[in-house]
Amino acid sequence: MPSNSMVVLTGAGISAESGIKTFRDQNGLWEDHKIEDVASPSGFRRSPDLVHAFYNARRAQLQSSKVTPNAAHKALAELESRWKGEFLLVTQNVDNLHERAGSKNLLHMHGELLKVRCTKSDQVFSWTADIKKDTKCSCCNEPGTLRPHIVWFDEIPFALTRIYVALQKCDIFVAVGTSGNVYPAAGFVNFIPAWASTVEINLDESLISHSFREHIFGPASKMVPKFVEKIIKGACPWHS
Ligand code: NAD
Repeated sequence: MPSNSMVVLTGAGISAESGIKTFRDQNGLWEDHKIEDVASPSGFRRSPDLVHAFYNARRAQLQSSKVTPNAAHKALAELESRWKGEFLLVTQNVDNLHERAGSKNLLHMHGELLKVRCTKSDQVFSWTADIKKDTKCSCCNEPGTLRPHIVWFDEIPFALTRIYVALQKCDIFVAVGTSGNVYPAAGFVNFIPAWASTVEINLDESLISHSFREHIFGPASKMVPKFVEKIIKGACPWHS
C-alpha cells in the first residue's frame, strides 16, 4: 500500500443507494421541499415548525432499520484501515453512514442530523428524538433555543482550516457522489497540489468533472469497492 496522503470527499450520491435521497435528483427539491425553505437561516426564522418537522423526518428515516451503510461506505472504511499514509474523509453528508461503516478520521463539514445546537450557548448535543418549536434545551432549559446542527446555505461549513491544510498537502484527492453545485466543497479540487492525482466517482458527469484527471462513472456501491480493491492490490487506478 502506498504511504501518500489521501483526502476523500463524499456527497449525497454515496448514500443514495442506502435509501437517502440526494439534493438534486428532483428538480432542485429536497424530499419535496424547496431547499431555501428547509436549509437556510431565513427559512428557519420564517417557519421553525416546518424546518423542525423536515429534520425530524430525516432523523427518523436515518434511524430506521431500512437505512444502513452500503458497500461504498464500507469500502472507504476498509481503505482507511489499510492505508499507510495520512487519510482524511470529508463528507458533506449529514447522515452517520460513514461512521457506522467504520470510518474514523472523518469530518462532517455540513453538520450532523443526530446532533442539535443551542442557539443561546452554542453547545452541541447528541439528539435522536423529534424537536418542536417549544422543546426545552438540555443546557439552558428554555424552550425555542434548539436548532438542527446542520450548516445551511449562507452559513460557514465546519472544520475548513483542517480541510484546507489536508488538501494542500495531499497526493490523491477522490470525490464520490457530489454534484459540484455546493461551495466551498465544489472548489476543493482546485486546492490540490499540481502533482496530485484527482479521481471523480459519480453516476455521470458533474459540474466539476473537468477539474479531475480520472473519472469512474457508475453507482458508488459498485465503483468505490472496485476502486478500493485495485488500490489494496497495488494496482492504483490513477496510474493505469
Ligand atoms: P447533490 O444531491 O447535489 O448531488 C448528488 C450527486 O451524486 C450527483 O452528482 C449525482 O449524479 C450523484 N449520484 C447520485 N446517485 C449516485 C450513486 N448511486 N452513485 C454515485 N453517484 C451518485 O449532493 P452534494 O453534492 O452532496 O450536495 C448537496 C448537499 O446536500 C450537501 O451539502 C449535503 O449536506 C446535502 N444532503 C445530504 C444528504 C445526506 O446526508 N445523505 C442527502 C441529501 C442532501
